Amino acid sequence: MSKGPSLTEILDMLVATGHLHGGQKQDVLNRGREQARHLLLDRRAELRRLLGRQRVNYTLSDIELIASFRFRKDEKSPVVDEETITEVVATHEGYTFVRVDPLKLNFKLVVDAFGGPFAEKHMVIAVEDKPEALTVALCDPWNTDLLGSLAQFKKKAIRPVMACKSEILKVIAEFHGFRRSMRAAEATFATDMPDIANLESLYKVQGTNELEATDQPIVQAVWYLLNYAFDNRASDIHIEPKRDDALVRMRIDGVLHAVHRMPRGVHPAVVSRVKLLARLDIAERRRPQDGRFKTSFGNTEVEMRVSTVPTVFGEKAVLRIFDPAVLKQPLADLGFFETELQQYNTMIGATNGMVLITGPTGSGKTTTLYSTLNHIANPRINICTLEDPIEMVNEQFNQMAMQPKIGFTFGSALKNVLRQDPDVIMIGEIRDGDTAENAIQAALTGHLVLSTVHTNDAASAVSRLLDLGVFPFLVAGTLLGVIAQRLVRKVCPFCAREEQLTPEQIDMLNIRGAEGRRLRVKRGVGCARCRGTGYKGRTGVFEVMPMTARIQRLVQEKASSQEIKREAVNDGMLTLREYAIKKLARGETTIDEVIAVTDETHLY
Ligand SMILES: [Zn+2]
Repeated sequence: MSKGPSLTEILDMLVATGHLHGGQKQDVLNRGREQARHLLLDRRAELRRLLGRQRVNYTLSDIELIASFRFRKDEKSPVVDEETITEVVATHEGYTFVRVDPLKLNFKLVVDAFGGPFAEKHMVIAVEDKPEALTVALCDPWNTDLLGSLAQFKKKAIRPVMACKSEILKVIAEFHGFRRSMRAAEATFATDMPDIANLESLYKVQGTNELEATDQPIVQAVWYLLNYAFDNRASDIHIEPKRDDALVRMRIDGVLHAVHRMPRGVHPAVVSRVKLLARLDIAERRRPQDGRFKTSFGNTEVEMRVSTVPTVFGEKAVLRIFDPAVLKQPLADLGFFETELQQYNTMIGATNGMVLITGPTGSGKTTTLYSTLNHIANPRINICTLEDPIEMVNEQFNQMAMQPKIGFTFGSALKNVLRQDPDVIMIGEIRDGDTAENAIQAALTGHLVLSTVHTNDAASAVSRLLDLGVFPFLVAGTLLGVIAQRLVRKVCPFCAREEQLTPEQIDMLNIRGAEGRRLRVKRGVGCARCRGTGYKGRTGVFEVMPMTARIQRLVQEKASSQEIKREAVNDGMLTLREYAIKKLARGETTIDEVIAVTDETHLY
């Protein structure tokens, strides 16, 4: 039996540590019983969904109950959540508190140490296995009976540490769920056809009716992967065949993390499942294929783009996740400072002319474009977009997907679009002379044109247009402005600590003036909420260059990019590096990000 602290004792700990005030404690004692009834029903429903079955066994803990009140001591304090309470209780009771980080856990250890049903019943996961002891994370470390039998069963000392119940449950559901699917899949495929262990062969041998049933573990496994990716805000899932097994990696805030390994024999079926979802030809495995499908997580409908390529060890699939919450944001949330936001708003407030966004792949250009269109959209204007591919479907826009194979390219599509009486035209990218010329024509004839080019900074976008054969006077006459952008990772607010830059770092950043000497910045030390990376989410870094009369003249005179940039900087434009340093000084990002993402090789 558990001998943990009582509800009142936990509330007293929270009051003593300054997380709650006395009134809130009383509130729980008065309303707790009532609240617990509803909460239990919610939790059971959630668990059914998580585990994918009808019968579940769930008891509510006092910690969860208190957390469900979502108290804050005052307006500025963070919500007293399950993690906070668990940590307070663990500290008080002398247990080590651990944040269960699914990306850091040893998948094999978790699924091999205890079977799924056992782990679920006792809410226990193995986090570290050393010769002297097995470390297990529990939400109820007072359960001495359980610890005793674990020691007996494992024949070694058990070191209990305390973790959040909901996180333990999630890991159990995801890891064991994934493992169950993999096992079932392996068993199915490995029996009669060791060499043709994949869905296609099953399909051929057994016909469609059989496929539904045998498909289930794979369907389940892919479902786990997609959910896992969405929960962790991943932008891409990579399913990669290796010599002995297959690796699943996910890109989160721009960085790839290894998440799962799966048996070699199951890999083709998982890839086939993904291809089926995207309506690709599953029999074709020697040629690259592209497709897309839609799925939903909770109430969010999400678009997925699938790309497959053959590699030495088999087919590799990459799924890109287009999360509408990321693609469509208020302009003010993209990372603009006040001045730059105003300048950008002026550019996109024009009824004709062209605004260019520039930056490498993955610098957030698409998000800026969609957010901008969304900002301008209203029932009185006609917005047409030409995209390759369409990353997010929005009913307010008339979106067209380019099909270069049948000659439907940006350049040719633009001619058709102009007959559609558009007010605003978004062109995915200007990459050839034909597109550039037609885009400029559209901008000249009373349309607002938004597009992207691939250059390092704002000033170079001008030279890019000239290189594509646009006359300087046309560029000077139609361009409203250019913004160059990058994404830097944001310091995780949950584990941020203050830090002072060293003189070397200040030198490296070339921060002039005395204010640099006192620059205090922030860095995340790593916690479960940021998967130990110290970063959570990303924010834009912008170089906003409005076309002033002087810059127009420089363009007409065919001045170099450096000259144009120098003029813009004289006018007050922050370079990408300067803009990033401003974010650093505000504690939004770290010096590492500033250096990794922006450079000063393009001197002005
Ligand atoms: Zn953190």
